[in-house]
Amino acid sequence: RMLKRQIACRSDINRMNAALLAIYESLIPPEEEKAKQKQLLALLDKIVSKEWPGARLYVYGSCANSFGFSKSDIDICLAIEDANIDKSEVLLKLADMLQSDNLQDVQALTRARVPIVKLMDPETGISCDICVNNVLAVVNTKLLRDYAHIDVRLRQLAFIVKHWAKSRGVNVTYQGTLSSYAYVLMCIHFLQQRRPAILPCLQGMQPTYSVTVDNIECAYFDKVEKLCGFGSHNGESLARLVWAFFNYWAYCHDYANDVISVRTGSILSKRAKDWTRRIGNDRHLICIEDPFEVSHDLGRVVDKFSIRVLREEFERAAEIMQCDPNPCVKLFEPY
Ligand code: ATP
Ligand code: MG
Repeated sequence: RMLKRQIACRSDINRMNAALLAIYESLIPPEEEKAKQKQLLALLDKIVSKEWPGARLYVYGSCANSFGFSKSDIDICLAIEDANIDKSEVLLKLADMLQSDNLQDVQALTRARVPIVKLMDPETGISCDICVNNVLAVVNTKLLRDYAHIDVRLRQLAFIVKHWAKSRGVNVTYQGTLSSYAYVLMCIHFLQQRRPAILPCLQGMQPTYSVTVDNIECAYFDKVEKLCGFGSHNGESLARLVWAFFNYWAYCHDYANDVISVRTGSILSKRAKDWTRRIGNDRHLICIEDPFEVSHDLGRVVDKFSIRVLREEFERAAEIMQCDPNPCVKLFEPY
């Protein structure tokens, strides 16, 4: 069993706070971007409703979960009630219609894990991906957004972690590193585990929101305006949290035995989930339980090579936060 190293945080950590907050602020999308997104959405809505009058468009992913940077692509889900539709057919038809409406770079990727149509709107310059009936992603987007409303430090921490991951090249799922979605779940879990806790466990509370999607019951307490001030007993600064986050993933997480779980607000054992051996391509080298699809490990993309890359990057970041006189430069240095 791995030794859990306890390291005392440097005493001048709060000196880094202003610089980290400035980076966070610089990544927030400006209001005019939101307006452009709305404009594009309205256009797409008009096109879609011609062919599928009962259908609805939902924005999910970073443009809707509040963890999106400026200039992100939009992820859109086309929800069609009719259970008998063929997704590929819908996507090909949609691609046709978008093309005739002068949208650019229209491409239907019907064989992808999540089949999509890609497009670029020349009017606003925004790119987007449209998928069909991926309602679970719309629901987990809402969960992330609701968590972000409880304590601003979640959004700040997740922005810094995502920015670090993108700068260091460890946010590329097809290369075996983690998705942005996985990093945000790691941040939520981390803040649930602080003492005093900075975030509650919404799925452990009396549900006020409940939907069943693909036979999965998604229920949690979503009246988050009632929870503002939840984390106020914990006064830790952003800098301190960034330091502790990397310290946790570098030296304290038990990769051999532990699964992090936002759903329960705790750590589960790999044994209890039967995630102890490789099955197919699921190696479970870093285990992050999806909050709703509980058999889904978001670490499944990580292989024996990329786990080393990831852990070395966590250690590098922890080292920089602990020792570097000017961590904000080194931390985000392009790889
Ligand atoms: P970025 O800023 O990097 O575009 P993003 O928030 O859009 O970040 P992605 O990882 O691209 O994050 O995922 C987009 C959305 O797709 C997530 O918010 C989530 O709803 C859904 N999603 C992504 N990966 C998974 C997954 N493995 N399982 C379930 N849902 C997922
Ligand atoms: Mg995205």
